[in-house]
Amino acid sequence: MKTFTFERPESAAAAAKAVAGTPGAKFIAGGTNLLDLMKLEVEQPMHLVDVNRLPFAAVEETGDGGLRIGALVRNSDLAADPRVRKGYGVLSRALLAGASGQLRNKATTAGNLLQRTRCYYFYDTTKPCNKRDPGSGCSALGGFNRIHAIVGGSQACIATHPSDMAVAMRALDARVETMLPDGRAETIPLADLHRLPGTTPQVETVLKPGQMITAVTLPPPPKGVQIYRKVRDRASYAFALVSVAAVVDVEGGRIRSARMAFGGLAPKPWRVAAAEEVLIGAAPGKAAFAEAGEEVLSGARGHGDNDFKIPLARRTLGAVLSTATHTA
Ligand SMILES: Cc1cc2nc3c(=O)[nH]c(=O)nc-3n(C[C@H](O)[C@H](O)[C@H](O)COP(=O)(O)OP(=O)(O)OC[C@H]3O[C@@H](n4cnc5c(N)ncnc54)[C@H](O)[C@@H]3O)c2cc1C
Ligand code: SF4
Repeated sequence: MKTFTFERPESAAAAAKAVAGTPGAKFIAGGTNLLDLMKLEVEQPMHLVDVNRLPFAAVEETGDGGLRIGALVRNSDLAADPRVRKGYGVLSRALLAGASGQLRNKATTAGNLLQRTRCYYFYDTTKPCNKRDPGSGCSALGGFNRIHAIVGGSQACIATHPSDMAVAMRALDARVETMLPDGRAETIPLADLHRLPGTTPQVETVLKPGQMITAVTLPPPPKGVQIYRKVRDRASYAFALVSVAAVVDVEGGRIRSARMAFGGLAPKPWRVAAAEEVLIGAAPGKAAFAEAGEEVLSGARGHGDNDFKIPLARRTLGAVLSTATHTA
């Protein structure tokens, strides 16, 4: 690990200013991703700005009946919060499907959203990787790509976003509250926070230098059955090969609303409006679920080792929708 300097600011504005104004500076929260990357010298920040003492560790109700989740709320605390368990079961389940108990006790809401990909070549500094070393090439394209993206990738990068929590938040229409180095607040829909790789896979979010996440807000609890299903290589901690977060409301034998977000498929939490539209007003059943799956996976492309994700995603979605609509 390279040497670095460290500071612990007393306000969000000071933290944002410190990161924006110090070359090679980064925020550190739980450290469960950043420290691993520093030990491997994938990330080499020269200065760490520790945000752990800032007052962002609370979950509060908002005026419209939703929730505001502080950036520093630990994943375990968020999963166990009674308001989350009651109104946003999909989020609680997604959190509990992620990492291990010890990691969830340290991992924070903001850090989880901004954790970096688990592409093995990204972690291996002896291999070309456009995300780690722009312009060097992508070892996963033409290499071993079992865990990689089937939608949303580019000729430069096919890495997936690893967060389970973010997938559930995407289905819930979460919004990300931030503070800029000049002290201004800016809110970003979670849908827009993560960027697709295009030709610049090293630029992963729309955040500007020093822009700090302070909270995530959720609208009031949605109506309907909430499900998070994660398919992975082993039952203990493992990242998703495919995951589905769904909130489905059925009334009078017809689907009134359906929200579905996917993990393991794309470089960001993936949601396809057309797939939700085909379900609205449809009678729950195999035909409607298959049509939704076709929409989600239209344009999907495997890269060899990850071809299996296309039928797996289709089947996982079908199973989730069957359970959610009690047609299983
Ligand atoms: C063995 C293992 C298994 C795992 N399995 C899973 C899994 O199955 N599913 C899953 O979702 N995750 C999994 N994880 C990842 C884990 O969830 C993340 O490491 C964790 O959520 C990161 O949160 P953190 O607070 O520790 O972030 P940190 O490591 O502190 O930071 C991560 C990034 O966020 C930035 N950052 C932190 N706070 C802020 C802020 N307020 N504003 C702006 N930037 C900020 C940092 O600069 C850094 O770039 C696993 C991790 C490990 C080690
Ligand atoms: S998929 Fe992305 S992260 Fe992985 S080697 Fe290619 S460029 Fe790097």
